[in-house]
Amino acid sequence: MKLVRYWSVRNARWLRWVYKALEACLVALHPVLDRLGYQRIDGTFAAVEKLVKGFLFDSQSCGQCSLGETGMACPMNCPKTLRNGPCGGVRSNGHCEVDPDMVCVWVTSWEGSRRIGNLETGIQVIQPPVDVRHKGTSAWLRAVRRKSGVSES
Ligand code: SF4
Repeated sequence: MKLVRYWSVRNARWLRWVYKALEACLVALHPVLDRLGYQRIDGTFAAVEKLVKGFLFDSQSCGQCSLGETGMACPMNCPKTLRNGPCGGVRSNGHCEVDPDMVCVWVTSWEGSRRIGNLETGIQVIQPPVDVRHKGTSAWLRAVRRKSGVSES
């Protein structure tokens, strides 16, 4: 829902703090998660993520979350799924050229990044192309594995 999505961007600062705290907890739990088996628990985590992030951010469950770097605005809501800044069609009122009823994802991303205070270190980080094979899988567990030095199988 767009209203909730916009609210999340207005509250990006503390939401990102919660997000980072959750990530730190999960990284600390890596030995437990590893014992349980990342493959085995992925479906459960992905379902929780879909519920939480779907409600707050209209997350499209790409499995490669960049919310922390994009001002808590999900770039997959861009009709062109652009992950590194806006196209050339942003309307003069900041709305999307494809969906005039929607504020351009990158306008909200800039606003969220400004609120977080990471215009230099977040939104300007180049995001890799989306790997569609990860769609529907847990981005949280992927981030935990990456931070724990575990390569993906
Ligand atoms: S105007 Fe913004 S949201 Fe719309 S297609 Fe272009 S970059 Fe994506």
